[in-house]
Amino acid sequence: MEFPKRVQINEVVLRDGLQLEKKIINIAEKKGLFDQLIKANVKTIEFGSFVHPRLVPQMANSGDFYASISEKQHDLTLIALIPNLKGAQNACTHGVKQVNFVFSASDTHNLQNVHKRTEQSLEELNTIQAFCKKNNMQLNVSIATTFGCPFEGEVPKERIHDVLKQVIAMDIRPITLADTTGMANPKQVYDLLVSLQRDFPTQKLNLHFHNTRGMGLSNILAGIEAGVTSFDTSLGGLGGCPFAPGATGNVCTEDVVHMLHNMGIETGLSLDELINASNILMHIVEHETPSYIRKAGPSNRKYPVPVI
Ligand code: ZN
Repeated sequence: MEFPKRVQINEVVLRDGLQLEKKIINIAEKKGLFDQLIKANVKTIEFGSFVHPRLVPQMANSGDFYASISEKQHDLTLIALIPNLKGAQNACTHGVKQVNFVFSASDTHNLQNVHKRTEQSLEELNTIQAFCKKNNMQLNVSIATTFGCPFEGEVPKERIHDVLKQVIAMDIRPITLADTTGMANPKQVYDLLVSLQRDFPTQKLNLHFHNTRGMGLSNILAGIEAGVTSFDTSLGGLGGCPFAPGATGNVCTEDVVHMLHNMGIETGLSLDELINASNILMHIVEHETPSYIRKAGPSNRKYPVPVI
């Protein structure tokens, strides 16, 4: 099997990772975590979201947090999630230059999430695109529930093709396909990605997996085998959608980086510094995280032989 030399990791702990936490994480704590991610050489960070603070209170300080960090200083790509035009306008007010519009491929999840059918969100995407162009903002798109919907079950492959086709026709890049509630399995990921890349050969796709059912790493590998080289991951394996029952964490950054490095695939990230970041994260959220590598350490760590 031929693997790519390098894979791009986009860190989402400051958004997806923290949005389900009971404790509200203050700006100083977020900044401490952010600084450690920079030490680990993370270059693409989804730092927050512009959603209604009543719905996701953990993200209410996203604008002020953004003001406390500098992307130019660190040669960074900083992205804010937005669910609608209002989110794009708020992000713009705070000087944010890159936004990620998320909507769901399944109507029921989209109705729960943003009270719109998929088709209506696609219409809104047109308006958001015009707004972003006018304000010199980069617009990314994430298609949630691509690999399954907690309310509808399987989302037909034809529907994913159709939704993706409409987004591509609007000339929006990059595009993320998200497994919002960890329903994907490796065969499904491989088959869908091979098929999508056959139909849209020049379109680069980024994948976003949750490890809800323990298939996160396998799904990443299946994505790589299908030719994908860009993934969202969350430090410590934290994360989850506030509008999906039983949602749990994203696939864990340090576990993914450890696997890739051991396979000879570069990420440009420092695993040691990621583990330090993961320890900081655990102190901030005040509970254990699902990370394997923070607990077990890298597999190349040699222990002293016990003296008998
Ligand atoms: Zn997610």
